[in-house]
Amino acid sequence: MCLSGDSGFSAPRGPGREREQEEKREQEEGREQDEESDERDAPTVSGDRALQALQAMENASAAMRMLATAVERAQDVVLITESEPVDLPGPRILYVNDAFEKMTGYSRDEVLGRTPRLLQGPESDRAALDRIRTALKQWKPVREELINYRKDGSKFWVELSMVPIADENGWYTHWVSIQRETTEQNVIRTQLADSEARLRTLTESIPQLLWTASPAGECEYVSQTCADFLGVEPKDCLGMGWGEFIHPRDRAETYALWRQAIETGGTFISEYRLRRRDGRYLWFLHRAAPRRGMNGQIVEWIGTSTDIAVQKQAEESLRQSEKLAVAGRLASTLSHEINNPLEGLTNLLYLIEGNESLDAAAREYLGMAQEQLRRVSEATTQSLRFHRQADRASARRISEIVDALLNANRPRMEARSIVVRRRYEGDTILQCLAGEMRQALGNVINNAVEALAPRGLLWVRVRRSLEWGHGFRLGVRVSIADNGPGIAEADLPRIFEPFFTTKGVTGTGLGLWITRGIVERHHGSICVRSCTRPGRSGTVVVLFFPYEPPSDLG
Ligand code: ADP
Ligand code: MG
Repeated sequence: MCLSGDSGFSAPRGPGREREQEEKREQEEGREQDEESDERDAPTVSGDRALQALQAMENASAAMRMLATAVERAQDVVLITESEPVDLPGPRILYVNDAFEKMTGYSRDEVLGRTPRLLQGPESDRAALDRIRTALKQWKPVREELINYRKDGSKFWVELSMVPIADENGWYTHWVSIQRETTEQNVIRTQLADSEARLRTLTESIPQLLWTASPAGECEYVSQTCADFLGVEPKDCLGMGWGEFIHPRDRAETYALWRQAIETGGTFISEYRLRRRDGRYLWFLHRAAPRRGMNGQIVEWIGTSTDIAVQKQAEESLRQSEKLAVAGRLASTLSHEINNPLEGLTNLLYLIEGNESLDAAAREYLGMAQEQLRRVSEATTQSLRFHRQADRASARRISEIVDALLNANRPRMEARSIVVRRRYEGDTILQCLAGEMRQALGNVINNAVEALAPRGLLWVRVRRSLEWGHGFRLGVRVSIADNGPGIAEADLPRIFEPFFTTKGVTGTGLGLWITRGIVERHHGSICVRSCTRPGRSGTVVVLFFPYEPPSDLG
């Protein structure tokens, strides 16, 4: 150790000095008493005792040497300064160890006699330096972390702890500072804070509502966007409180699905309505995936809720238009059935009118009957017009119609990670009623999407093809397949019946019925194959439209 004893520092008075001196006085008095009693027991100092004293001194200096080496070689920096002056120019450095040279790039000779301030620079935290100075003035140990500068001007973070050292008289004579470089920790800390800030910005800027839940399903976090939507503070959604925001009619099913996800560790997917701050309920698609720890155990659930109000509205209007189409068809059938007899009636009444044997009263009744008949005819003509198709046949590329339908379904499919495989072969231009074709293919695609579980597969193939039957016809074949649960054997013969549905209130049971009607209008064919065997389940719907345009397509 090169701690110089001749630095000529003045020993200032420290706050602990009086008490320490008192203790020292007491110790010395005690020693004097002991020595007196020793002298009484043994009036002369024997040679043995001198030898013992010498031995003790040797041991002490060996211990000192060991300590010195330890400090010299320590991994942490050890720096010893004089105790004063705390203010400019600062206390002089009396000792630094090897680690100091390694950390700062300064050699001992360059820093001895100078002040530790030479390590400071523009980015050294002023507040931390002030705290150190205050502690130094009050002779209090201090611990701080701040930026220092190496000899080559590069910055580094250092954590330092300083303690004042007193001499045997209780005067504070030196400061010992132990320092350790913390640049790496600081870089990690900064990166962590950065990535946290990025994550926070991300969670607050995406339109989805974000939330997390404990493995047991209790809400642990909701994004500010989520809290704002609900019109509460984020803390009000924690625990099991989230159930309160769900539409009462959706609660039971949601809880059941949530429980199932927790028990099986599978993804939670559910559509349910959430109460907005203004009290209105809006449809959301909720998904949560488990995040697992090192041992595979679930650490938390990370969830998103996506606004699907627009999609729900589109579905609803599709249902409405399906219903309207059906109403139209019914009206059309009815008016057709009624119009023929009406025409007969009109003719008959006309013949009766020409009969001259009718008296005045009969003629009046006849006039009234004709008037009523005219009203009925008008009413049926109106409803017939209601059904009449607006569009005319035109050349359309079927693959483009299919693409447009898949695109329209994309948000719904992406939300459930449904994988779509499409294959278009050859020219698929066909003379058809585009609106009807869209409706027919759309119904089949909808059914497949509705049947698919998350991550399910949807295959769509459109190609030129030959159909063998009575001779053969050239046309376009569209195959739509899904690996959903399939159609039960008992249901299969009924799926083209109007109003047959297995979807409860959400189904109309009209999709396939309408599709078949449209296919027939285009002189095409439709066939459905399905399998419900677990692991191999799925449904394939094949539609064929001949190139030969039917003459009645308008
Ligand atoms: P909806 O879809 O309104 O129920 P549809 O006429 O479109 O009416 O379909 C009738 C029924 O046929 C459905 O309720 C369903 O049971 C069955 N179905 C149709 N397509 C599929 C499919 N791809 N997978 C499973 N079931 C299907
Ligand atoms: Mg349907």
